[in-house]
Amino acid sequence: MSAAIGEHPHSPATLAGAVAAGRMSGRLWLYANYHCNLACTYCLTESAPGVPRRLLGGDRMRALADEAATLGFTAIGVTGGEPFLLPDLPEVVADLAARLPVVVLSNATLFTPALVERLRPWADLPVTVQVSLDRPDPVDNDAMRGPHNFRKVVEGVPLLVEAGIRVRVATTLELDEIGPEPTADQERLCVLHRALGVADEDHVIRPIVRRGRAATQGLGVVAARDDLEPELTVTADGAFWSPFAPTVTGGRLDIDLLVSRSTTPLELPVSRMLGFLEGRSPGHDTTLGIR
Ligand code: SF4
Repeated sequence: MSAAIGEHPHSPATLAGAVAAGRMSGRLWLYANYHCNLACTYCLTESAPGVPRRLLGGDRMRALADEAATLGFTAIGVTGGEPFLLPDLPEVVADLAARLPVVVLSNATLFTPALVERLRPWADLPVTVQVSLDRPDPVDNDAMRGPHNFRKVVEGVPLLVEAGIRVRVATTLELDEIGPEPTADQERLCVLHRALGVADEDHVIRPIVRRGRAATQGLGVVAARDDLEPELTVTADGAFWSPFAPTVTGGRLDIDLLVSRSTTPLELPVSRMLGFLEGRSPGHDTTLGIR
């Protein structure tokens, strides 16, 4: 536990100091849940409809956002599983965004007109929805993510955009498919996301990480702790090094990148994280572009 957290904002020994020095992300990630309506072949968390839900809960997420703002975090990420399966997500995220800017990750398959209507207040809040879209055509895309995924995404994204909600597109590929120049497929994907209303600066391409179901399937790149940007991540089971850390393999939670089992107060895992960072050289950065 560090009484110094929050007291010396420009010291590397504080959260704010570590963030200002670029040694740690200012975003706190929250794993809202682990269940999903899909079961993608490279899923880090072996998510699917029937898996244990490991819910964080709306009240806990609100309390964590309060602590995060006090401690000096600059943003919140919400991930899962598929967070939009949670009935109270629209209201919970609006409350989080009243504290800090929020990005919510989604497979974008659940955006019915009725749900998007409930999301309209997000247009006036610092909320971004980051949706997954891997390939520019349905056959290749759905081979990894399941039937009708492509159609639902290309139908759902324009609904969000028309509601005034900022959307980012995240494309997940094998590392050897990501080069300095875009492939023909990637150029077609860019044409598609622009047509859906998503600008180039809101398109990110990152590699599959070999954890969870990707490891079981022999997909992705092996990523050690220092390959992953330090981004404190809170789940129902504890705090982890990065949102790529609290993965599930063979039905068991992976704890190799666990920071602390306890997340109350949030200052406890923050202090542990800063301790881990002390052993790293200033300017240390990830090399795999895993964000
Ligand atoms: S990768 Fe995302 S959308 Fe696919 S099963 Fe996992 S949580 Fe669901």
